[in-house]
Amino acid sequence: MRHSETMTTVKIPIGISSCLLGERVRFDGGHKNNSYIAGTLSDYFEFRAFCPEMAIGLGVPRETIRLVKDERDGDTRCVGVKNAEMDVTSRLKTVAAEQSHWVAHLSGYIFKKDSPSCGMERVKVYFNSNPERSGVGVYAGELMEEFPCLPTEEEGRLGDAGLRENFIKRVFMYDRWRQMIARGPARQDFVEFHTRHKLIYMSHNQNGARALGRLVASISTLSQEDFAEEYLRQMTALVKKPATRKNHVNVLQHIQGYLKRKLDAEDRQELKETIDQYRLGYLPLIVPITLLKHHFRREPDEFIGNSYYMEPHPKELMLTNSI
Ligand code: SF4
Repeated sequence: MRHSETMTTVKIPIGISSCLLGERVRFDGGHKNNSYIAGTLSDYFEFRAFCPEMAIGLGVPRETIRLVKDERDGDTRCVGVKNAEMDVTSRLKTVAAEQSHWVAHLSGYIFKKDSPSCGMERVKVYFNSNPERSGVGVYAGELMEEFPCLPTEEEGRLGDAGLRENFIKRVFMYDRWRQMIARGPARQDFVEFHTRHKLIYMSHNQNGARALGRLVASISTLSQEDFAEEYLRQMTALVKKPATRKNHVNVLQHIQGYLKRKLDAEDRQELKETIDQYRLGYLPLIVPITLLKHHFRREPDEFIGNSYYMEPHPKELMLTNSI
C-alpha cells in the first residue's frame, strides 16, 4: 500500500515530562520511568524531555508544591506545601512561554499525571484544605493554551488501550500534517491529505467528517493560510475524542462495499461475519482489518490503498489488537 511506503522513518519529535524517562528530577530525587514510553514508543518517537520545576531552579530535593485556590480572588496558584508564601505560579508560566520555540516543532506531548506543574487535568486543587480534582498543572496548562492543536496525553491514560491508540494516531496524523506544511503545499496536497484521512474522520464522527469535507470543497474560496488554520482546528478537534466501535463498523462496511463484485459468496459471507463479530465485541479491530487488507492485496483499489484508515500508525505497535 502506498501509505506504508510513505510512513515516516524519521522519529517523531515528542515533548515529555523528564521524570517519565527515568530522570531523577522529582522533589525527592526519584523518577517515574514508564517502560512503555521509554521502551516501545522510543522506537518511533524522539523524546524531548523537560522538567519545568527544575527549569525554574527548584532543585532536587525540593519542597513539594501544590495547587491552591486563592480565597481572595478565586484564582488557582501553585505554592509550597509547607511554605505557602513560596508562590511559583508566574515562574512556571514564564518558563512555559520560554519553551514555545521548540514546542512549536513537536508533534505531541506526554505529561506526568497529577503534577501541579505537568498534570493535564484532574490535578488536586486545595481549598480550605479540602482538595478537589479540578486543576490543570500550570506548565501544561500554558502549553495547551498556546498550542491547542498539539496532541497531548498523560502517561497514566496511555495505559488504556483506546486512549493509547487514539493518542498515537493523533500524533502520526499531526506529524504528517506538519511534514506537508513544511514542504509548502499546493491546494491539491490539502485535498490529497483529506482524501487519505477521510475514513479515519468517519470512524470518529460522521457529522464532523462531513463538515471537513465541506471545508475542503470550499478550498478555492479561502486563502491557503485561512484554510490550513481552519482545517487543522477542525481535524484535531474531531479526532481528539476516540473513534467508536459503531462508527468503525460503518467504515468497515463502507470499505466492504468496494469489494462487492470482486468476492465470491463464501468470501463475502466470511467478511460480513467477521465485521459482525467485531461489532458484537467478540473480535478486536485488527481482525476485520487484516481480512480486508488480504482481499485488497488481491483486488487493489486506489482510494483504499492510499487511505491511512487500515494502518494509521506502524503495525508493529499492535495498537488495533486490543480495541
Ligand atoms: S512531573 Fe514535571 S515537574 Fe514534576 S518531576 Fe516530572 S517533569 Fe518535573
